[in-house]
Amino acid sequence: MTFDDLPLAAALKDSLRARKLVQPTPVQRDAIPPALQSKDVLACAQTGSGKTAAFVLPILQRLIEDPGAAPERAMRNLVLVPTRELAVQVAEVFGQLGASEGIMVQCVYGGVSQRRQVHGLSAGPEVVVATPGRLLDLMAQRYVDLSQVECLVLDEVDRMLDMGFVRDVRKIVAALPAKRQNLAFSATLAPGVENILAQFMVNPVRVMTDRVSTTASEVDHRICRVRSSQKLDLLQHLLQLHAGSNGEIKTLVFTATKHGADRLAKKLNGLNIGATAIHGNKSQNARERALNQFRKDPGGTLVATDVAARGLDVKGIDLVINYDLPKEGDSYVHRVGRTARAGATGRAYSFVSEGDDSLLRGIERFIRQQIPLVNDHPFPCGKLEAAAPSPSRQPRSRQSGPARGPSTSGQPRQNTRNFSRRKPSAGRPATATATSGTRSAPANGTQTDTPRSSSRSFSLSGWWRR
Ligand code: AMP
Repeated sequence: MTFDDLPLAAALKDSLRARKLVQPTPVQRDAIPPALQSKDVLACAQTGSGKTAAFVLPILQRLIEDPGAAPERAMRNLVLVPTRELAVQVAEVFGQLGASEGIMVQCVYGGVSQRRQVHGLSAGPEVVVATPGRLLDLMAQRYVDLSQVECLVLDEVDRMLDMGFVRDVRKIVAALPAKRQNLAFSATLAPGVENILAQFMVNPVRVMTDRVSTTASEVDHRICRVRSSQKLDLLQHLLQLHAGSNGEIKTLVFTATKHGADRLAKKLNGLNIGATAIHGNKSQNARERALNQFRKDPGGTLVATDVAARGLDVKGIDLVINYDLPKEGDSYVHRVGRTARAGATGRAYSFVSEGDDSLLRGIERFIRQQIPLVNDHPFPCGKLEAAAPSPSRQPRSRQSGPARGPSTSGQPRQNTRNFSRRKPSAGRPATATATSGTRSAPANGTQTDTPRSSSRSFSLSGWWRR
């Protein structure tokens, strides 16, 4: 099937073709037709599987088919998203795919002056992409007229309906016309979410192209047991290990706290590893600058809190590191889903330190998978490794299995290589960025600088370098 087989306007097909988008992804193939028929749709598909275009295309199609009573423009579509960065990104996809049609899209999010947003809203954009807090502010000031909204999209729907947002979302929904279309998308769905959704949606068509709440198939994710005091050494080691021939590797590192993100970015810069932190304490301008730089940079390290976990589509992230384990399984899925997008492959490592085992168990229960253990990295956590595995984890050996599995046997390893400490790259100025979300968790480990030798030899088994 190609996009030509879908009942889309020629202008949309042209812009898809111009972007080399030929075949719909499974979620697009299954969600676009019912959405075009104005049905409610609840779609769950893995991270990076093209969910944005799955709601953008039907909305654009309807705006093209029925441009409304010109010259009166009205807000006919409202997309709610959890973060400012995601609002910008979704608006860009509308802009890219609907560029030729003169469709107006306005972003509404906090952290910046409302003046330009108010001005934009006064022009009557057909699509508004908003975070709930600022939208409610502007509604209270009567700058927003929701009376003409025909379609509501809840992107990252489980996040939009969790404790942090659900009250705001309810207030917004209460101000919408009762007769409207509802589209809801996410890679994860907690069991309670569908009950809340039932209050908003009418007999939604359920599109479940992947098992709910699984990590993207192309992501190779592993855990490393490591002492808190050696996390930085291990991070540095992994950056060296996976760097391309030019020494570059595009890496997104997640920490539990905003301060943790800042501290880590600073330490990395001290090691001549260019890093920037993005989190909720940074100004919106600083957040956008850091993200734009990261998007452009072929390598570089962004250190972030969960504010960067959801939805962000940055091309070419090679590596995701959970420097601190997330507290919830859905965060794990979304964090590792920043790599291996749109059919690409990627790697994710999660550091498991003192006291992290219950978090790890919670994550593994959520994704219904055991995450393989890397047992031959140079900073193993002896104390935790020595601990007896719980009976439920014993039958499925982490160490044995497929040829790609980490070696534990002490047999001679293939692909043994020596790595020396990465030299500062001349073309790579030291910069640090950190990002944090609204649900930041307390730091779960101390981070101390430890004495390091100037170079090390690492013995690695084959799968590390697929
Ligand atoms: P999303 O899951 O919406 O963030 O999309 C992830 C990535 O997939 C984005 O970089 C899109 O440009 C890309 N993408 C979306 N639809 C397609 C498609 N039909 N074929 C190939 N790539 C796509």
